[in-house]
Amino acid sequence: MGGRFKRVREDFTCDVCGTLVKGNGFTNHCPNCLCSKHVDVMPGDRSSKCLGIMRPISVQRRGNSKMIYQRCERCGVVKRVNVAENDNVELISHLSTIDSPII
Ligand SMILES: [Zn+2]
Ligand SMILES: [Zn+2]
Repeated sequence: MGGRFKRVREDFTCDVCGTLVKGNGFTNHCPNCLCSKHVDVMPGDRSSKCLGIMRPISVQRRGNSKMIYQRCERCGVVKRVNVAENDNVELISHLSTIDSPII
């Protein structure tokens, strides 16, 4: 057996739309529906007990990058994440037309 296949971090199936998401270590949301789960208190710490669905509410440009604002449907917290290269462009452009979220 040649070559060790090292599994890249956390592949997961999106709870919202069922897309199999290939984790690359940076993936924190579903590229299809842009939802994620409220698992972090601080980014990446996985220490939240909420586990609500974080739904995208708006996309805002910040300098050269775009940020997705997501609101947790269980506890209402709003977080922002970077748009990833393989994200759903139609949904991104739709969300870009929505004004800044109230945070
Ligand atoms: Zn999804
Ligand atoms: Zn939450």
